[in-house]
Amino acid sequence: MSERSRTEPVRTCLGCRERSDRNTMLRLVVSGTAGSHVQLSPDPTGARPGRGGWIHPHCLDQAIARRGFGRAFRSGGPFDTSAVESYITALPPQ
Ligand SMILES: [Zn+2]
Repeated sequence: MSERSRTEPVRTCLGCRERSDRNTMLRLVVSGTAGSHVQLSPDPTGARPGRGGWIHPHCLDQAIARRGFGRAFRSGGPFDTSAVESYITALPPQ
């Protein structure tokens, strides 16, 4: 059984726009809205339904600055990334 035929293992980072193995990246999904903010949550399993976007954990700030989330999630935002920041902060150092 080949995973390759079913699932492309490479994703493009919303921050630096480079393509990397998805195992080194973090998937983000829209988890809801809070007021005018679109809430983003980490999806470490990469299996949650809905529209997702991928970043390198260290590229979160860059993705925000480059408005990569707007393209990925088809929304003008603003985006609440506090849950993602908490998750990344808790990751063990690489
Ligand atoms: Zn990146």
